[in-house]
Amino acid sequence: MNMNNTFDLIVIGTGTAASTAAHECRSAGWNVAIIDSLPFGGTCALRGCDPKKVLVEAAKVIDSTQRHENKGIVGSEGIRIKWSDLMSFKRTFTEPRPKLREDGYIKAGIVPFHGHAKFTDPTTIKVEGENNNNTDNRNDIILTGKHIVIATGAIPVKLTIPGSENIITSDQFLELPNDRLPERIVFVGGGYISFEFAHVAARAGAKVTILHHGKRPLEHFDPDLVSQLVQRSKDIGIDIRLQTEVNRVDKSFYSHDNSKLVVHYSSYVTENGKGNASSRSLEADMVVHGAGRVPNLEGLNLVAGKVKYTSRGIQVNEYLQSVSNPAVYAAGDVAASGGAPLTPAARYGGTLVANNLLKGNTMKSNYTGLPSVVFTIPPLAATGVQEKEAKDIGLRFRTVYRNTNGWASSKRVGETCSGFKLLIEEGTDRILGAHMIGPHAEEVINIFSIALRLGLTAKTLNDPILYSYPTSSSDVVYMLSK
Ligand SMILES: Cc1cc2nc3c(=O)[nH]c(=O)nc-3n(C[C@H](O)[C@H](O)[C@H](O)COP(=O)(O)OP(=O)(O)OC[C@H]3O[C@@H](n4cnc5c(N)ncnc54)[C@H](O)[C@@H]3O)c2cc1C
Repeated sequence: MNMNNTFDLIVIGTGTAASTAAHECRSAGWNVAIIDSLPFGGTCALRGCDPKKVLVEAAKVIDSTQRHENKGIVGSEGIRIKWSDLMSFKRTFTEPRPKLREDGYIKAGIVPFHGHAKFTDPTTIKVEGENNNNTDNRNDIILTGKHIVIATGAIPVKLTIPGSENIITSDQFLELPNDRLPERIVFVGGGYISFEFAHVAARAGAKVTILHHGKRPLEHFDPDLVSQLVQRSKDIGIDIRLQTEVNRVDKSFYSHDNSKLVVHYSSYVTENGKGNASSRSLEADMVVHGAGRVPNLEGLNLVAGKVKYTSRGIQVNEYLQSVSNPAVYAAGDVAASGGAPLTPAARYGGTLVANNLLKGNTMKSNYTGLPSVVFTIPPLAATGVQEKEAKDIGLRFRTVYRNTNGWASSKRVGETCSGFKLLIEEGTDRILGAHMIGPHAEEVINIFSIALRLGLTAKTLNDPILYSYPTSSSDVVYMLSK
């Protein structure tokens, strides 16, 4: 322990961005402190990607068995998800994490602090209620850093509607203890978290509704492939209501145990596309927040730190350095850096920040080829530009768009929803964007992500590369053949 609490680097957060930056700076011999107010590990490992994927894998078993009914498998109706067992299995991943992560810091020589971090001046951090070793002794500790990295992630956007206290967060959804999921679940918002959870919940037997304010959900994904996913979602019983706005969530008057809810919403879809919004309501046993996440700036006292921010996050330059306080860098979901709030971007941001701290500002951020996946069943994946965006910025390209549900890679697993869209630049033959839905799209997208990142042409991806066969990746050859 550094006795005078002065460090080369103080890192706030213990998620992907924070851990990457802390370890890389420590490896270079820096004296590093790291702070978190929650159990160590961050969102992805404890409350996001990793636990969610455990649930998705279970839902995939149900879906796969159903898809193979009459194709050599019988009895698919008998299988079900036992939610409480699935939660226990999930906890085998999440529960060991905080200690493993802390042990890793200690072994590397990074000094851990448990408590809420806030700036008291541009290079000083107060850790409120610090309780190292998880004892009951809570003290405020003052740390001084030559440099500070803010990697505090994101939190669900605050819903200001009456009854918002009746809406649970994704964190709570991932902790539901019962043997079965509640019967009727409403998701507020049609982003990727809602769709992923909705697909799990539907396979677990719940009646699911998604209420989304826009004309189409999953706005960051290709509209044609989203339409395919919407149809597939409807086919498994998910009710998707677009152009709706949730106004209120009440406890049901008729519920004797107070457990039933009524979601009041306005629908802007009218019979003939004209007229005023109509007021509607929907009964539910659980309502889940899927209306988006915002950078977590809560209680950081950024004004004292002379750190400029907006609602989009900490304002940083292309080196991820604060535009107002040169001692401070930010990475991951909290930084307004131009990267999407996803784990690969957080890891990359952590590496970039470490490089720029250790070597001076030598690496500019570049998120080209960042892949993004909706882990529905089947998954939807994208990298690079969307078709409309490419047109808007005047790129010259050809589009290859195909439905692939007749291809062997889909047919042999009974998947009826699959397709892809590629945008290939005229003249250079470079891949500008790749969008796909279907079995293993979450893996195949990485091939296109590499192509985008390295500026590879469509011909290069097709010609000298040898893909293992028969795999979904080997479909890349057919996707690119003229
Ligand atoms: C349900 C869900 C599913 C997701 N699925 C995926 C997915 O499949 N793929 C993907 O790429 N991304 C996914 N994401 C997003 C991904 O989890 C985030 O992009 C990523 O974890 C961000 O990492 P980070 O390092 O920026 O911050 P985080 O991992 O969020 O870490 C921030 C840490 O800072 C701590 N902290 C905050 N403020 C303070 C403070 N003042 N003092 C001390 N500590 C503080 C927090 O407690 C937290 O531990 C998902 C997110 C959610 C919620």
